[in-house]
Amino acid sequence: MPENIVITGARENNLQDVSLTIPKNQITLFTGVSGSGKSSIVFDTIAVESQRQLNETFTWFIRNRLPKYERPHADGIDELSVAIIVDQKPIGGNVRSTVGTMTDIYSVLRVLFSRHGTPSAGAATAYSFNDPAGMCTECDGIGRTVRLDIDRAVDWSKSLHEGALLLPGLTVGGWEWKLYAESGHFDPDRPIGDFTEAERELLLYGGDFTVQLQLRTGSVEMRFEGIVSRFTRLFLKRDTTSLSAKRREAADRFVVQRPCETCGGSRLNKAALATRIGGLNIADWTRMEVADLVEVLGLIDDPVATPIATAARRRLERLVGIGLGYLSLDRETTTLSGGEGQRLKMVRHLGSSLTGLTFVFDEPSVGLHPRDVGRLNDLLIRLRDRGNTVLVVEHDPDVIAIADHVVDMGPGAGRDGGRVVYEGPVAQLHTADTPTGRSMRHRTELKDSFRTPDGWLPLTGADLHNLRDVDVRFPTGVLTAVTGVAGSGKSTLVSEVFTSAYPEAVVIDQGAIRASSRSTPASFLGIMDTIRKVFAQVNGVPAGLFSFNSDGACGECAGRGVSYTDLAFMDPVTTTCPVCEGRRFHDEVLKHRVRGASIVDVLEMTAAGCMEFFDDQTLLRKLRTLNEVGLTYLSLGQPLSSLSGGERQRLKLATQLHRTGSVYVLDEPTTGLHRADVDTLITLLDRLVDAGNSVICVEHHMDVVKRADWIIDLGPEGGKHGGTLVFAGTPEQLLANRASFTAEYLRRDLG
Ligand code: ADP
Ligand code: ADP
Ligand code: ZN
Ligand code: ZN
Repeated sequence: MPENIVITGARENNLQDVSLTIPKNQITLFTGVSGSGKSSIVFDTIAVESQRQLNETFTWFIRNRLPKYERPHADGIDELSVAIIVDQKPIGGNVRSTVGTMTDIYSVLRVLFSRHGTPSAGAATAYSFNDPAGMCTECDGIGRTVRLDIDRAVDWSKSLHEGALLLPGLTVGGWEWKLYAESGHFDPDRPIGDFTEAERELLLYGGDFTVQLQLRTGSVEMRFEGIVSRFTRLFLKRDTTSLSAKRREAADRFVVQRPCETCGGSRLNKAALATRIGGLNIADWTRMEVADLVEVLGLIDDPVATPIATAARRRLERLVGIGLGYLSLDRETTTLSGGEGQRLKMVRHLGSSLTGLTFVFDEPSVGLHPRDVGRLNDLLIRLRDRGNTVLVVEHDPDVIAIADHVVDMGPGAGRDGGRVVYEGPVAQLHTADTPTGRSMRHRTELKDSFRTPDGWLPLTGADLHNLRDVDVRFPTGVLTAVTGVAGSGKSTLVSEVFTSAYPEAVVIDQGAIRASSRSTPASFLGIMDTIRKVFAQVNGVPAGLFSFNSDGACGECAGRGVSYTDLAFMDPVTTTCPVCEGRRFHDEVLKHRVRGASIVDVLEMTAAGCMEFFDDQTLLRKLRTLNEVGLTYLSLGQPLSSLSGGERQRLKLATQLHRTGSVYVLDEPTTGLHRADVDTLITLLDRLVDAGNSVICVEHHMDVVKRADWIIDLGPEGGKHGGTLVFAGTPEQLLANRASFTAEYLRRDLG
């Protein structure tokens, strides 16, 4: 087998003719500041080419049905092996996908119940909530029922004339409203709270009669339908995916979800739930934390059942081993965090005995407390020792430490990066004169003094998910870090309980910016109008011509610049539009120029270049905010979807910097950030606080912990062994705490 993956002249995105030799069967770490080109090498060059070559091995018939990958920009990419990508993209899936089904552990449990449970409900499908044989028929195996919330649908204090009916489509005077107000069955001027029981029943659920309505167009006879029945028919009993997002959202506001009463949320029918092993049914098992289920399975001593139980245990132990022991098998995959999802995917691959593959990881330490990084490392090492090549993009020094080989990209981001600045053994990385080498030599100290809170936002009795009656107060006017091991309850406390108690808090996450596929940094900052006006004035043509959302759009791709291949069972793949070659505009538009540059040239400029090109003051003021968040290397027309999570987050921060008196909530803002970027981020957060705002971050990064003014530490462990307040106070006070894992790692970090 060849010993190296060999890349020559790679030029994808910002890569500047990168040539690299990556040793096979070893762990290679890719480091460098955010935007330096790590993903461009690992994902956009190596992984894409591997997928593309794999697809070429199929017959044309199959190939035509596979997504088309474009050959990455490179002179050569040789000696690849099949790449398996383990990233943080949300695990696809729907309400029917759970930790149990996605890891296949649930199917093993089903076999166990069908063969060894009493009384047996039948073959294995009898315990599947995704199969008619096993599902609860009331909720179709979803475990929840969706109903109209009547108290939100009507205002009991008002009459029909006063607008008591709040549901979409029932505005006073409309013909659908007339069905109720002019039916002759109700007094339209009486508050509906004063209706008799029978009248109320009629209004809500209808009756078997028709109503003659006088409309402008004449008289019509309509069947009388209660408002609940109407809503159920229009929104609940029908596939609403065909409705516009706006209508669906409008309807969603009137809907309540409750655990299904028939199956108690277990999704299964009576027969399946009646089967027991050791007094417990399969729903009891899937509700348990994985760590506890391992114990329960260990108690089975039936000689025939034991081998199956052991198989299930082995898989569950892998979950515990990677620090996911606090999850339960019935947890819906759509509610998992990116880091949890990535670790689950990892566990799935560990079960396979394939060798000779290339595994590609995107910052696998995300969401992990420093305490648990060791377990992650064990997994990476095991994958390698089984004969695989392991490529990891990562910033955590404890992960970098296990590398056999390091590729350090940089030195800067965007056009200031894209080169290999160090390549070799990890032992010499800390002596390298690169941002990574320098950051490894540098230690952040505790601050000399901490800001004093100017007020408190209290929460009492927080008990969502694993939180155990937590009373905690969040200080205002300071920088707060909420810490604790994975699963301890940080996100639950901050992103769910706190933000619903204080809805005015501004949440800044790394998630996709809610916008169309055509959004760019320029449109996000709101400077496109100005740029279009400049082009229109100089050339004496309408400004709309310079918009790829309207008159300027390429006819082939409607201004998207790319076409999408969307396959139900794979990630969608984008290919560049063959007509405009990704420029989004039709040819005519490009003839109009400002100082020699077409609109496309301007959109290809970096923000920094644009600041030199234009002299419009409003434009410059908005562009300067990019400077403050370190993003001037972005080009104005780059699709927002191509930004890394860290870049997206800083772009969002850029629009917030002038605010004051706000409370900001950030969930693991250091994700995707190099230590040098973390520094920039903390400086930004400090500035927000100094401008009179409060900042609350969920965070593991010790640099953030050290520079915070206040720490709220949850735990001590994950899941049901967590969910309590371990510590609240300044980082200095935390140092003295003996119960907190975070304290232990803070002491270690300070040396
Ligand atoms: P890293 O992984 O080191 O954070 P990336 O490889 O994601 O960096 O990005 C390197 C540079 O290329 C960044 O400036 C990024 O904005 C840019 N980039 C990434 N994808 C695209 C794209 N599809 N179009 C244009 N620029 C891109
Ligand atoms: P952290 O942010 O500290 O990693 P989380 O708040 O995500 O922890 O999780 C705390 C506990 O709550 C865990 O046991 C987790 O499995 C559980 N949990 C989190 N989100 C959900 C959810 N949507 N449904 C059910 N349980 C959840
Ligand atoms: Zn049910
Ligand atoms: Zn096009």
